Amino acid sequence: MEFEPVIGLEVHAQLKTDSKIFCGCSTKFGSEPNSQTCPVCTGMPGVLPVLNKKVVEFAIKMAISTDSKIADKSILARKNYFYPDLPKAYQISQYEEPFCSGGYVEIQLDGTWKKIFLTRIHIEEDAGKLLHPETYDMHGKSKVDFNRCGVPLIEIVTEPVISSPDVAYLYLTKLKQLLVYLEICNGNMEEGSLRCDANVSVREKGSDKLGIKSEIKNLNSFKGVEKALEFEIERQKKLITSGEKIIQETLLWDANKNIAIPMRSKEEAHDYRYFPDPDLVPLWVDNEWINSIKSEIPELPKNKKLRFIEQYNLSDYNAEILTATKELGNYFEETVKHCEDYKKASNWIITEVLKILNEKKIEINDFNVKPENLGSMLKSVEEGTVSSKMAKEIFEEMTLSGKPADAIIKEKGLVQIIDTEEISKTIDDILEKNQNEVSLYINGKEKLFGFFVGQIMKATKGKANPKIVNEELRKKLNILKKK
Ligand code: ADP
Ligand code: MG
Ligand code: ZN
Repeated sequence: MEFEPVIGLEVHAQLKTDSKIFCGCSTKFGSEPNSQTCPVCTGMPGVLPVLNKKVVEFAIKMAISTDSKIADKSILARKNYFYPDLPKAYQISQYEEPFCSGGYVEIQLDGTWKKIFLTRIHIEEDAGKLLHPETYDMHGKSKVDFNRCGVPLIEIVTEPVISSPDVAYLYLTKLKQLLVYLEICNGNMEEGSLRCDANVSVREKGSDKLGIKSEIKNLNSFKGVEKALEFEIERQKKLITSGEKIIQETLLWDANKNIAIPMRSKEEAHDYRYFPDPDLVPLWVDNEWINSIKSEIPELPKNKKLRFIEQYNLSDYNAEILTATKELGNYFEETVKHCEDYKKASNWIITEVLKILNEKKIEINDFNVKPENLGSMLKSVEEGTVSSKMAKEIFEEMTLSGKPADAIIKEKGLVQIIDTEEISKTIDDILEKNQNEVSLYINGKEKLFGFFVGQIMKATKGKANPKIVNEELRKKLNILKKK
C-alpha cells in the first residue's frame, strides 16, 4: 500500500503589543521573573479583564492579509484546566465563535503559487512559564514566572491540507514572513514568539478520508517541525503496515534525540468546559474600523516580489531573497536609486552584502555601508572608472570604515584610467621600449599580445581599463603590421 501524509499546523504568534491583553503590564521579554505582573494577570479574585484594543487591531491586520473573514461578533471564552503556569485555572481564548475564519497563506512550490487554506485565526492569552530544576540549580524545585501570563497571542490554524514536511516548512517560513512584514509579531522562535504544534496522519494515497492524527508539541524551530513530521509519518506508516492501530495522541518532540515521545492520549474539547467569559462582552468589529486598518497594511511579500521581478527585471530567485524582509527590499530599492544595473546591484547585495551580515550576525539596518554608498560605487563600476576587482577592495574598505566609495577611491588612488589618450601614450611608450618583441609580433608571434598588455598594466599599476588597453593596443599593432 502506498501512503500519503496529511498535515495541519497550529501556530501561536505572540503579538508585539507593549502591554498585555487584559491588563496594563508590560510584555517586555527577558525581565526579572514575576516583575511584570498584577492582580489581573495573576488571577486574583475580584479583578476584571479589559481587552487591549491594539490586540484586535493586530488581529484585523492578519485577517485582512490572509483574506480571512472577520466575524461581526466573536466571543472570548474560558478554556478551563489546571496547571501551575495558569493562575486563573482557565485561559481566555476563543472557541465556538472565533475572530475570523477561512483565508489562506500563499507559498510558491516549484514556481507555482499555492494556497494553504486556513480554518481560523483566534485571539487568546498566553500562560506563564515553568522553570524546571534541570535548567538551573534549586534543590529539585520548580519555579514559575508569571511575566508571560496574559501576553497576547493569535492562533493560526490551517486546514488539514499540507501534503509533506517540506511544504509545512515552507508554509511556516511564509507565515512568519507575513507576521513580520505586518509588524505584529517579531517572529523570534528562541524567545517563544512563534510556536507551532504539528498534526499529522497518513492515509492510502489518493484517498479522500482522513486518517487518525497525532499532534506533536514542543517544536522550537521550523527545521524541527520538518524533522518531527518526517519521524512521525514513518512511525505511523510502520504501525499501519504491521497491522496495528494508530491512536489519537499528543507527542513531545525531543530535538536532541530526534524522536517523538508519547505525552498523553488526546484530550477532547469538552474536557475543557469552554464557556463564554462572563467578564468580557462579545467582540464587535465594524467595517469602518476594518477599512481604516486596510490603509495601514504595507506592501506584502508576494506583491513586493512580483513587483521586483517586473520593475527591476530580477530573477525569481533574486527577488525572493531580496524581499525576504521589508528592510532588505528597502535597501535594494535605495541602492538602485544610485545606479542603473539592477541585476548587478541585486547580485552584489545577495552575495557580498548578505555574506557580511551572516558573518557579523547583524541585520541589514545595522550594516554600516549605506545603500546610497553602495549604489554610487556600483555606478562607478558601470561607468568603468572602477573595475570589478577594485570594487571588491573598495567595498571591503567601506564595510570597515563606513566611508563613501569616492573618499576611499581618492585615499587609495584606486580610480581606473579610462582616458584613452593617456592609455594610448603609455602603449606607445611600451612598444617603443620593446621593439624586439614588436618585430617578433609583426612576424607572426601573436602570443606576445599578452606580454604587451602585461607591460602596460604594470606601467599603470593595474589601473588602466583593460578593455580600452586591449582595443587601443590591437589598433596600434594592426597599423604597425600593415606598414
Ligand atoms: P484538535 O481538536 O485536536 O485541536 P482540530 O480539529 O482543531 O483538532 O485540528 C487541529 C489541527 O489539526 C488543524 O490544523 C487541522 O487541520 C489538523 N487536523 C485535523 N484532523 C487531521 C487529520 N486527520 N490529519 C492531519 N491533520 C489534521
Ligand atoms: Mg490542537
Ligand atoms: Zn497584569
